[in-house]
Amino acid sequence: MPDMNTIVGSHDILMITLDTLRYDVAKLEEQHCPNLCGSGSWEKRHTPGSFTYAAHHAFFGGFMPTPANTDKASHIRLFHSRNTGLKTHPHTWLFDTPDIVSGFAAEGYRTICIGGVIFFTKKNALAKVLPGYFQQSYWRMNFGVTNPRSTENQVNHALKLLDQTAPDEKLFLFMNVSAIHGPNHYYVEGARADSVESQRAALRYVDKALGPLFEAMRGRERPTFCLVFSDHGTAYGEDGYHGHRLAHDVVWTVPYREFIL
Ligand SMILES: [Zn+2]
Repeated sequence: MPDMNTIVGSHDILMITLDTLRYDVAKLEEQHCPNLCGSGSWEKRHTPGSFTYAAHHAFFGGFMPTPANTDKASHIRLFHSRNTGLKTHPHTWLFDTPDIVSGFAAEGYRTICIGGVIFFTKKNALAKVLPGYFQQSYWRMNFGVTNPRSTENQVNHALKLLDQTAPDEKLFLFMNVSAIHGPNHYYVEGARADSVESQRAALRYVDKALGPLFEAMRGRERPTFCLVFSDHGTAYGEDGYHGHRLAHDVVWTVPYREFIL
């Protein structure tokens, strides 16, 4: 793992949750995802939550998905709250705030959220909780699950915000990508129901749409530490299960990557 104490403060941080992306789907499409997988493969991990709301509270609390293995020594935390009395790894970044978002803000970062799925819409009190972690948060109808070009719209919004941010300002940009979440059948012509196939097509769309964002981050003064992962998978009929917010391997097992842009 990288030494997070040399990353935080010197790098911009880009965190992208590919909402609902299954690990098996991500692996099947690795060769077709040059932006997400150009520098390496997906890691197989376990998510701390079976649906968006639970998982993102854990992530913002510093609990990233954990390696899907029984070797606890490999489960080194990138982020950990300070003064817990627990022994932490020297490469783990410790924060004094209730969550990493305000922790980054305390280090001088501007924190921005670009929402995707329903828990980021800010349309009711519950849907304001997750965006409320951030100094700036945005959601538009065309960022949501019903728009087949949602990722392009999210990325274009991010590019506008980047234009308004000084290239040397420390930035924590979080984006919840909605396109892979259902409904995603419209990424396969003629398909009427979501499936592994249509999720694969959605992921190919997302990879392409993220290209301009990665390019823009590369143009900033600091290097960018990029975390990309799924918050949970979803079931398409396996063992009779459908959807997520339930306990099944296709829900708990998620793809995870970290890399420098
Ligand atoms: Zn989700």
